[in-house]
Amino acid sequence: MLITDRIFEAFLHCETKAFLYLNGETGEGSEITEWRRRQKEEFNQKSRERFVSNLATEQWTIGTPSLIRPKQGRYQAVFDYEATSEGVRSLVQLIKVGVRGKARFSYGPIRFISSHKAAASDKLMVAFDALALLQCWKKAPLVGQIARGHGQEIATFRLDRLLNQAKRLLTSITDRSTKDTPPPILKKHCPECEYQLRCRKLALEKDDLSLLGNFSEKERKKHHDKGVFTVTQLSYMFKPRRRSSKIKFDQALRALAIRKKQIHVVGAPVLTKSGTSVYFDVEGDGDRDFYYLIGMRICSDESCVQHSFWADNPSYERDMWVTCLNVLGRIPNPQLIHYGSYETHFLDRMKLRYPDADPVLSAQLISTSINLLSNHLWTNLFPDPLEWPQRNRWLLGI
Ligand code: SF4
Repeated sequence: MLITDRIFEAFLHCETKAFLYLNGETGEGSEITEWRRRQKEEFNQKSRERFVSNLATEQWTIGTPSLIRPKQGRYQAVFDYEATSEGVRSLVQLIKVGVRGKARFSYGPIRFISSHKAAASDKLMVAFDALALLQCWKKAPLVGQIARGHGQEIATFRLDRLLNQAKRLLTSITDRSTKDTPPPILKKHCPECEYQLRCRKLALEKDDLSLLGNFSEKERKKHHDKGVFTVTQLSYMFKPRRRSSKIKFDQALRALAIRKKQIHVVGAPVLTKSGTSVYFDVEGDGDRDFYYLIGMRICSDESCVQHSFWADNPSYERDMWVTCLNVLGRIPNPQLIHYGSYETHFLDRMKLRYPDADPVLSAQLISTSINLLSNHLWTNLFPDPLEWPQRNRWLLGI
């Protein structure tokens, strides 16, 4: 069995995903997975250009040259080297080569990541590259590197322990491959995975606990030990607390809400709706300090229409915002409704960044937007939880 860097990376996120790759199952790409793929490719290309800008043309190459050339000091950098060792194959993004005299040959794999912080999984990917290079370059690299963010800050780390960890993970993948497909346990990575539709469907069929989200492995195991495997089973575990006045997050209460198809709210919020409701959601890239997606659902009495506006990189952010404003400008008295303060910050920042983009409409959107999760909305309504309606107090265990 050949374990590629793609399978190894998938395993670091999700066992099921690695298994599906191993079996050659194709998933369904979504707009977000396609966008992320394009972003990654573009970032890698730019990182490469920035890296070679300090080298002469003959000092670097792309592909898999004969080992003799790097050893002779012909290249200082080799991109996209296809390294294959026993049972593993990796397309190594970059190998940095150093030669001092005949016997002093050293090299190390490097990966580019767009984030400013290298995660444990990024380092393990470098270790995987090192494992794949080990046999064909006949020498284990001592250190690996990660070039972080657009400034390409270099993080250097020793590889010895990571190599052992990567080997253990390879053994786990090999062992797992002989068993049945692991059950889909929905997790944070799912929204950017091509198997999202497949796994969600299976999780719904099984009524799996992971549908509730925010379930740690420990918590999951605790419920399994008690014989609770489904959302429905968990919903019967909810016990309203009668004495405590504290509202605590409770997965069983969420399960109950799902089973009864009810939404539990603390009181009934009074919303001052004044125009056409536009449900609004924004996604951004914190590392690069830009927003890349605006999603809108515009509802009238007759129908609901959805829009999505994309910015492939920071230079398109203004166009995205202006296009969004143009659509909103055609709606009578639009009022944005969103969940959380992220969108509130977004509106403020757009006003500051692009003051010339329809300032009147921007100001109107800011002043009329409703954040359904704002704290003051709730505390203003019911400063004392004991004033909440009896039914809601019961549901929250008060
Ligand atoms: S959708 Fe989620 S559970 Fe399914 S393979 Fe992808 S990451 Fe794993």
